Amino acid sequence: MLEMQPPIFARSRAGRRGLDLPAAGVPATGGSEGWSGSLAGLLGEVEMRDDPPRLPELAEPEVVRHYTKLSQLNHAVDTGFYPLGSCTMKYNPKVNDELAGLSGFAELHPYQAAEDVQGALQAMWELEQQLLELTGMRRASLQPAAGAHGELVGILMIRAWQRDRGEGHRDTVIVPDSAHGTNLATASMAGYKVVEMPSSERGLIDLGSLSGALSRHQVSALMLTNPNTLGLFEEDILEISRLTHEAGALIYYDGANLNAILGKAKPGEMGMDVVHVNLHKTFSTPHGGGGPGAGPVAVGETLEPYLPGPLVARRADSGGTGGAADIKGSADIKDSADTDGPAEFYFDRERPKSIGRVRGFYGNVGVLVRALAYITSMGGDGLLQAAEDAVLNANYLRARLRDTYEIPYDRLVMHEFVASASRQKLYGVNARDLAKRILDFGMHAPSIYFPLIVPEALMIEPTETENRDTLDAFVEVMRQIDRECRENPELVQTAPHTTPVRRPDEVLAARRPVLRWKPEDDVSG
Ligand SMILES: *Cc1c(COP(=O)(O)O)cnc(C)c1O
Repeated sequence: MLEMQPPIFARSRAGRRGLDLPAAGVPATGGSEGWSGSLAGLLGEVEMRDDPPRLPELAEPEVVRHYTKLSQLNHAVDTGFYPLGSCTMKYNPKVNDELAGLSGFAELHPYQAAEDVQGALQAMWELEQQLLELTGMRRASLQPAAGAHGELVGILMIRAWQRDRGEGHRDTVIVPDSAHGTNLATASMAGYKVVEMPSSERGLIDLGSLSGALSRHQVSALMLTNPNTLGLFEEDILEISRLTHEAGALIYYDGANLNAILGKAKPGEMGMDVVHVNLHKTFSTPHGGGGPGAGPVAVGETLEPYLPGPLVARRADSGGTGGAADIKGSADIKDSADTDGPAEFYFDRERPKSIGRVRGFYGNVGVLVRALAYITSMGGDGLLQAAEDAVLNANYLRARLRDTYEIPYDRLVMHEFVASASRQKLYGVNARDLAKRILDFGMHAPSIYFPLIVPEALMIEPTETENRDTLDAFVEVMRQIDRECRENPELVQTAPHTTPVRRPDEVLAARRPVLRWKPEDDVSG
């Protein structure tokens, strides 16, 4: 069992040192009363503190062990199964991290001249080409820092386009009731009214409801997710596209679930106007816990002029898809910089209709590099296989769990499926209890209570990176917990029993997080 660690301050012992610094090489011009005197003399007017800071005194191995143990208290995809639906918590190959850490990427300075960062610009340009190929769109901005940020950018572009054509009175965004919460938040942050559209009995967009909403409101955009959060592919997508465009509105495609359809289907070919892609879900950036991500937005012809700028462009671009073969060698690039000639890759700032910059400097470069490394190393065939395996794994689990758990939309799904704890609820156990009990078996819980249209929802996304042994082990755990619900519900209701923290107050933890330990609140005794 993992134990909570006492704070590092509690391990401090006076006089212990991590390292010995050599004597200072600056003249001791001040008094001789220790560490502050001489520096004070040297620094003159600068305010010096009177007392040394209260830092813990420890040797290096103690510090390393402390933080390594702390890091092991978290569940991670590197330590166990992580079927968190809607999040695509796949395993991320370590080589992609290594490439992102290359100094030409990791040590870029935001104010370096374009001539000096040609490699990074080329990587960004190539990533854009790859994303365009995968989404079937025309141009993309890599700036947005997350999926939700990409959504906001997309909706702001739609608004700019509509105002340009004198249709600024359109004030409504339609969102299906299975949508991710960020869709509704995005539309209302952009100042729109949100109309929630009930799903059909099959868990899809209902064409009748859509037509009704389009005729009753001044609709600016439809925001949809495909495959949707029930893991279902929108079978009427072409008709949805036709109806929406006929009504003078555009379609925002939430591409967070792209993993399921990589190489199979392209939003561009479904008639979508703008799509965001979660690089930190589909394209190999470790995530969870709010780490850096990226949510590039790709657009079709209508919205291209409105993309946030600047865009990375290639000089004398022939319009081809590029690739390593027709990109000049680094020696040429260096030459052109030396002679002050135009460098091959540059920031295109001549975009008069652009909605402007939405993020500082280059965006999250490390995330962009990981995505490019992942796409390039997988290749088209590899990505297609990833999508197929993700779908196979989700359907395998669905088929093996359907005897034990209620599955409201029980038919072929894409990357994930939504089960319900409604049968277990008869014994007084709810989805949250069940999720907590899963933690006792060293696995992460599925997403719960989402989407809202399934009561006691358990949203399960195994991803393609899990083998059959792991999937079978998960099935066994789920079956055992079901037995416990009937035989000993209290065991499940009081779970987890083996984790370092049991049931924290989730609201308080989010609203008033305690991120800093201060000596005065030492509770370790
Ligand atoms: C994760 C997700 C988002 C939001 O992406 P963030 O990067 O977390 O902002 C939006 N829509 C869907 C369907 C998602 O799964």
